[in-house]
Amino acid sequence: VSDDRGVGSRLAHGGEVLDAALAEIVERFRPVRTGDVASYIPELEHVDPDTFGIALCSPRGHVYAAGDDGLEFTVQSTSKAFAYALAVTDVGVDEVGRHVGFEPSGDAFNAISLDAVGRPDNPMINAGAIVTTSLIRGADADERFDRLRSFMSRCAGRDLGVDEHVFRSELATGDRNRALGYLTRASGSLVGEVADATATYFRQCSILVTVRDLAVMGATLANNGVNPITGDAVVTSSVAQTTLAVMTTCGMYDYSGEWMVRVGLPAKSGVGGGIVAVKPGQFGVGVFSPRLDERGNSVRGVRVLEHLSSDLDLHLMAHARSAHSAVAQSWLDDLGAHVALVGELDFVAAEDLVVALETLFDGPLPAGSTLELDFSRVTVIRPTAERVLAARRARLTAAGVHVVVIDPGGVVAGHETAAGERLVG
Ligand code: GLN
Repeated sequence: VSDDRGVGSRLAHGGEVLDAALAEIVERFRPVRTGDVASYIPELEHVDPDTFGIALCSPRGHVYAAGDDGLEFTVQSTSKAFAYALAVTDVGVDEVGRHVGFEPSGDAFNAISLDAVGRPDNPMINAGAIVTTSLIRGADADERFDRLRSFMSRCAGRDLGVDEHVFRSELATGDRNRALGYLTRASGSLVGEVADATATYFRQCSILVTVRDLAVMGATLANNGVNPITGDAVVTSSVAQTTLAVMTTCGMYDYSGEWMVRVGLPAKSGVGGGIVAVKPGQFGVGVFSPRLDERGNSVRGVRVLEHLSSDLDLHLMAHARSAHSAVAQSWLDDLGAHVALVGELDFVAAEDLVVALETLFDGPLPAGSTLELDFSRVTVIRPTAERVLAARRARLTAAGVHVVVIDPGGVVAGHETAAGERLVG
């Protein structure tokens, strides 16, 4: 067998192999030197344009990395996703939604993208991010910033610092952002003083991270809001889901549509050169390379993630549904019919069970027979599967079949069905 397999196939062979594969990716894309570092924030011009790093964090908390993985850079707009998660945690998605919309703008990150009522189109562009920051709870700008910095630090699993030079540089030159602040304050979107909101926003953009931090922060969102290294439940799964949804539609500015086609992952870029990308349930990825394209996205970052997504088969719209059934075993003996289920039961798994029950006797189970359902190797039952199973159990019971449930892990008990009755008594 020739060994031209991608990272995905090598991943199965162990972590050090993934480290090597990431190192290979860094070498492969290192020759890409198109684009320029951001200069409209004067201090950002001082970064070494050729630095390049990548890291990936799994939901088990393993971090794989290559290149300049320990180098700190300013988080810039990748902070917008986390500020949004905190604002939604603080005041709820509906209240945030009254101030900042959910729609992709199709415009540049710093455009005046306001909807008919003067509300910024989404929280991933500057106008929306400044408003989002103004919604974070806190008595003043300092407290709002402290809360956000500590929130982002919990997502990263370490205490994140601030680049005061970059902060002062943007504070001195950020008139366009102040203008967006005034426009959104005039429409009632921004809360409080413009100077407070922009100072907090500039400081949040100047928070220092490494690609390892971005990978862990992304993995926290990938892992239902729980930092996979520290175990800290930083946000609820619903806030993580909302944040990832907005990253999916708006995270790469006016490249978000093509990004979704080519990479297919929720992501957020920043003009510092960082990109955080997330495969829900699987990975957080951080990439850093400061040369930007005309949209303000890292050139190498976009290329690397296109490559990783296809190599690791990460595209959200690709469903590599495993061929094996949720029914691990089914058999008949003197005691009756037995079905052992395995894994996470979703709708398709419940369908597998229904089909197995019908084929076991070449027809419906006879009245008076016993059916033993073994859930001991089931990890989770999704709500739709729960309903299908409950309905099937009710039909079997009505047909005179005695259903016995083996459920040592308690995955079935406690799951209410839609009708309010339990799957098993
Ligand atoms: N601090 C930068 C700004 O507001 C962030 C922009 C970005 O990363 N796209 O202009």
